Amino acid sequence: MDLFSCLSPFVFCSFASGSSGNCYYVGKQDEGVLVDVGISAKQILNLLAENDIPLSQIKAILITHDHIDHVLGLENLTKLSSIPIYAHSDCLQGIAEGKSTKKVDPQLFREVEPLQPFEVCGITIEAFPVMHDGRGAVGYHFDYEGRTLTIATDIGMLDKVVKEQIRRADNLVIEANYDVEMLEKGAFEQ
Ligand SMILES: [Zn+2]
Repeated sequence: MDLFSCLSPFVFCSFASGSSGNCYYVGKQDEGVLVDVGISAKQILNLLAENDIPLSQIKAILITHDHIDHVLGLENLTKLSSIPIYAHSDCLQGIAEGKSTKKVDPQLFREVEPLQPFEVCGITIEAFPVMHDGRGAVGYHFDYEGRTLTIATDIGMLDKVVKEQIRRADNLVIEANYDVEMLEKGAFEQ
């Protein structure tokens, strides 16, 4: 839960990770973004407060894909504060149609093109496609003051694009699916 100062100049915090919800904070000292909001808005507000991060410091919400464990808190959080939502167009479509997210204001939607860098609060961000069954699933690569950080969730398989993103990351946050049969039959011995 603690802020990881070793990732300097990034300020990074893992609020939740795994199938019960995903939510990360990535930023610099005074501004930043949330990557996924798959826990309740109330939990997110509590975790931000615990880490002395005011909600006004959140300049964007980046969504990796539209599964509930990545978007649960989106509607209530954006009701409290009109934070722009960045995601692949297919994911935004999924959010607009999703049971728990269909009331999210589409005016907050910002489409990201995979491998096309954009900037939020001085941090260069690039989405890259990952293999997952969520709509428009992407990971995010951050570049700030010459250092990089990559977040990839729900990685089922390492394809060429993901391998390249991992190779160029100074810091890597990875959340991976596992399959018992694949683990048992895989190349690695336990
Ligand atoms: Zn998923």
